[in-house]
Amino acid sequence: MSDTSDCIFCKIVAGELPSTEVLSSERTYAFRDINPGAPTHVLVIPREHVVDNAAGLGAEHGDLLAEMIDTAQRVATQEGVAERGFRLVFNVGPDALNSVPHLHLHVLGGRQLGLMG
Ligand code: 5GP
Ligand code: ZN
Repeated sequence: MSDTSDCIFCKIVAGELPSTEVLSSERTYAFRDINPGAPTHVLVIPREHVVDNAAGLGAEHGDLLAEMIDTAQRVATQEGVAERGFRLVFNVGPDALNSVPHLHLHVLGGRQLGLMG
């Protein structure tokens, strides 16, 4: 796992960096992406660093992952995109342009999304 002391998403959870909250749960936090790729673009993260990206997930993260999905579904409902549809994305590694090494789930919606974006 990368050095977490410099992790921007850990700092966001700690309130050391600003963010626009959308929802939160006991173990997750959802906030608006700073560079939105769609009218709704929210990031759902675990409050604890846990793993850098989805490649590090295992069976032991099942409950946390379920909570992230639940938060993402509630984000979609709250944002008004649940009915028309939305996309949930985990980027992993450089070919996926994964830029922040703290597990995060993108919730994208509010327009018709092409296969790649
Ligand atoms: P990745 O490409 O790693 O899957 O996604 C990282 C996302 O985090 C990008 O969509 C990027 O716009 C977003 N991001 C990077 N830095 C910040 C920040 O400081 N605040 C917020 N709200 N989003 C950020
Ligand atoms: Zn972190």
